[in-house]
Amino acid sequence: MNRLWSAFLDLLFPPKCVFCRSLLPDGERDLCPRCRRELPWLSGSAAEQKPEFIALACSPLRYEETVRTSFHRYKFYGQTSYAKAYGRLMAVCVRVHLDEPCDLVTWAPLSRRRKRERGYDQAQLLAQVVAEELGLPLCSTLEKVRDTAPQSGLEENSARRANALGAYRCTDPAAVQDKRVLLIDDVLTSGATASECARMLRTAGAKVVFCATLARAH
Ligand SMILES: [Zn+2]
Repeated sequence: MNRLWSAFLDLLFPPKCVFCRSLLPDGERDLCPRCRRELPWLSGSAAEQKPEFIALACSPLRYEETVRTSFHRYKFYGQTSYAKAYGRLMAVCVRVHLDEPCDLVTWAPLSRRRKRERGYDQAQLLAQVVAEELGLPLCSTLEKVRDTAPQSGLEENSARRANALGAYRCTDPAAVQDKRVLLIDDVLTSGATASECARMLRTAGAKVVFCATLARAH
């Protein structure tokens, strides 16, 4: 974007912290110094999980309070510009936690119907930013073929698994054949959705699947 134009926009809409919405001091972007210090950041093994069919999943944040309310504005109230900040945090997390380089970035998509209703796919927007930050190609490789009940309404892990089973299909097996795939999703809870996507990618021939999400619950 043109620098002058972007300065003008900053005057009209001063950049705010995507988490707490306080005005950002000059020279800061995405989040404020206080959130940088005080959000529930995850590090070391706390940031890592190994859901089935996934070599390693990493998330920079715990899904609670400020993170959750910020994420709700992003997912349900059209704050799509947050994808930039979120995606940058996720890309840093990937660099820290994944020893192996990936070949491509993909995401766990919404169903066509849900995407039409919402107007955007929140995981796809994150995947775009992560791919850009890591200098990797972004590939659409999955389709959600069945609308599922929201995973957040299901308590039991077994119920979440059953709910996700068969919900996705790989639309481009050639693209993932023998590839190291980085799967992007928004929040990792039981890992059932990410596992199911990874299972389809592995079945289609992916060599290994890694995963990154903005946050993890529990
Ligand atoms: Zn803040």
